[in-house]
Amino acid sequence: MRKPQDNELHFQSLVIDAHVDTTQRLVADGFELGIRHDDGSVDIPRLRQGGVAAVFFAIWTPGTITGPAAVERAQAQFDAIHRQIAAHPKDLVLARSSADVLRARRAGQIALLIAIEGGHLINNDLAILRRYHSLGARYMTLTHTLNVDWADASTDRPLHHGLTDFGTRVIGELNRLGMLADVSHVSDKTFYDVLSASQAPVGPPIPPAALAVMPLATSATKCSARWRQKVASYTLTFT
Ligand SMILES: [Zn+2]
Repeated sequence: MRKPQDNELHFQSLVIDAHVDTTQRLVADGFELGIRHDDGSVDIPRLRQGGVAAVFFAIWTPGTITGPAAVERAQAQFDAIHRQIAAHPKDLVLARSSADVLRARRAGQIALLIAIEGGHLINNDLAILRRYHSLGARYMTLTHTLNVDWADASTDRPLHHGLTDFGTRVIGELNRLGMLADVSHVSDKTFYDVLSASQAPVGPPIPPAALAVMPLATSATKCSARWRQKVASYTLTFT
């Protein structure tokens, strides 16, 4: 049973939600973050009530939407996030670094961070990845449920058998930019290829303590020792 001190611990901690899928609603439904809603689970009143200090908004399209259409949709979602931040300057601030998250905390604001969910959103173009980074993205989930042109997903038929050469370059660019490569959804082979290619910790962006108790989509348990060495310590490993 929950004790009163549990709540206290929660509200004293810097609580980070590493992935919410509300972004598309900002575009499709004109969802307004400033108002408490009866549906969904994320808006400013409820983030505040829940004591959430920082939250990653995921930018996503289904893996069937590729090419320029995927880039266009991603940009519309960046725009919607930025407009919500501009509309609620007392409550929200775009965080591009761990220092920004701490600054937001001190200022009584919620740090909003951005994630890309699905490598298809970069349309095989590192310049687009760099553009997303400049718009605030700080991690990229390499695949969603379908393979992308440079990496296999865990829920699709093996096609590339891991990362392609271009996929290895994507990891290098993520490392260089200070973005986390998130291995949620990728195939086991892709997962191991990412571990070999990455010079930086990889995600999902949750702490090891949580990883210890939370089985992940990939076969993390099979490679725990090596994996833990490389898995991110915290969300805030990006620079
Ligand atoms: Zn998502």
